Amino acid sequence: MTLYPKPIDHLIEALTRLPGIGKKTASRLAFHILRSSPPEAQELARAILDVKEKIRLCSICFNLTDENPCRICQEDRRSQGILCVVEGPNDLMAIENTGTFNGRYHVLHGAISPLEGIGPGDIKIKELIDRLRGETISEVILATNPTVEGGATSLYLVDLIKPLGIRMTRIAYGIPMGSEIEYSDGITLSKALEGRREI
Ligand code: ZN
Repeated sequence: MTLYPKPIDHLIEALTRLPGIGKKTASRLAFHILRSSPPEAQELARAILDVKEKIRLCSICFNLTDENPCRICQEDRRSQGILCVVEGPNDLMAIENTGTFNGRYHVLHGAISPLEGIGPGDIKIKELIDRLRGETISEVILATNPTVEGGATSLYLVDLIKPLGIRMTRIAYGIPMGSEIEYSDGITLSKALEGRREI
């Protein structure tokens, strides 16, 4: 129970639900919003609604996008036959930001994790296999994270894809074990892609 008027309380409560935001930070943000001009507040509210209303998954690669297919899938200059498989959209962005990868992607939206009850059917594996059957893909680069879950996912994919006769490679892990692709610096990531190995 606080002494704030209800709308302020409500905003603080909503902000507290965001990751990493405690009660104190939430109050600070709420009062900042309260002091901002109406257009500023509207812009923030609109931006929040926009990501919910306009962001979808690309029907080809399952990246987050506001147009379908996404901009990456639409780019003709990309090598159509090379597919880089990543766990999440942030991994895709990290690889994309290195500027060294010229193929296309497939976003799994997670990794296999028996401990958390995440099985192959919970991530976009079936969709990946459908793509490999329907498109002309010459190489699949596995760029799952060097974690237990990433490793399990990668092993599962090797078993599934190898019989299709497609070349498979795994990015070289100059990336320290247990760390994640999205937090790797561009140079490490470029080297990891360059030094990818046959599976
Ligand atoms: Zn796409």
